[in-house]
Amino acid sequence: MKTRNKEYRYDLDGKEYRLIIQYKNVRRLSLRPRGEEIYASAPFLLPEREVFSFVESHRDWLRKALQRQQQAEDRIWQGEGEVWLWGRKRPLTVVYGAPQLYVGEERVLFFSRRRTKEALIKEFYALAAQLLAEEVKKEESSYLHFLRSHLYLQRPEIRYHSAKSRWGSCSYKQNRIFLNAFLIHYPQECLTAVLYHELCHFFVPNHSKAFYALLLGVFPDYRQAERILKQKGNL
Ligand SMILES: [Zn+2]
Repeated sequence: MKTRNKEYRYDLDGKEYRLIIQYKNVRRLSLRPRGEEIYASAPFLLPEREVFSFVESHRDWLRKALQRQQQAEDRIWQGEGEVWLWGRKRPLTVVYGAPQLYVGEERVLFFSRRRTKEALIKEFYALAAQLLAEEVKKEESSYLHFLRSHLYLQRPEIRYHSAKSRWGSCSYKQNRIFLNAFLIHYPQECLTAVLYHELCHFFVPNHSKAFYALLLGVFPDYRQAERILKQKGNL
């Protein structure tokens, strides 16, 4: 897809953002805020003033989307004293010892021998991925049943990564699903929602009506979980 970019400064509540207009082969305008940047996808030949007035008329929406993004970012563990775990904020204590994440009702104990903040954070998310894997394991018989009932007979491989961008992705060809370790910060049903979302892509690759019919059939609470996770704020 050919794109042509133009960049401007945009002031929102006294804070300066980079407004990046991306002219693309699209039919309508859309906005995507990302941290300090606001991306506007616009059809080729659309006058700039129309882009600006679109952005102006979506100030409230932008404000909310940026706020949601900030809240999501605040959940990411920074190596400080508290952590969002399974949707609840709890005090976390780092204890010197063999790597383990102990999740109690009232507090979290993080056993580690790492010394630098970066190494601690890295190990935290590696252990978080193990907790996610245990949760996914509990779901295994039901999701394998779902796949088999639709004649998908292989057992998919599930891998974990931590990235700010996507909650999950999948590769039908490699029979693989990737889940984001940051899901540890949200209630368990969000993890299950992302898992089923990706599994449904094995049957329907896009986000069409058929896709959601399949997904809501197997996981009726999907929308609720999606609302909790919705932070990217695409319009
Ligand atoms: Zn999807």
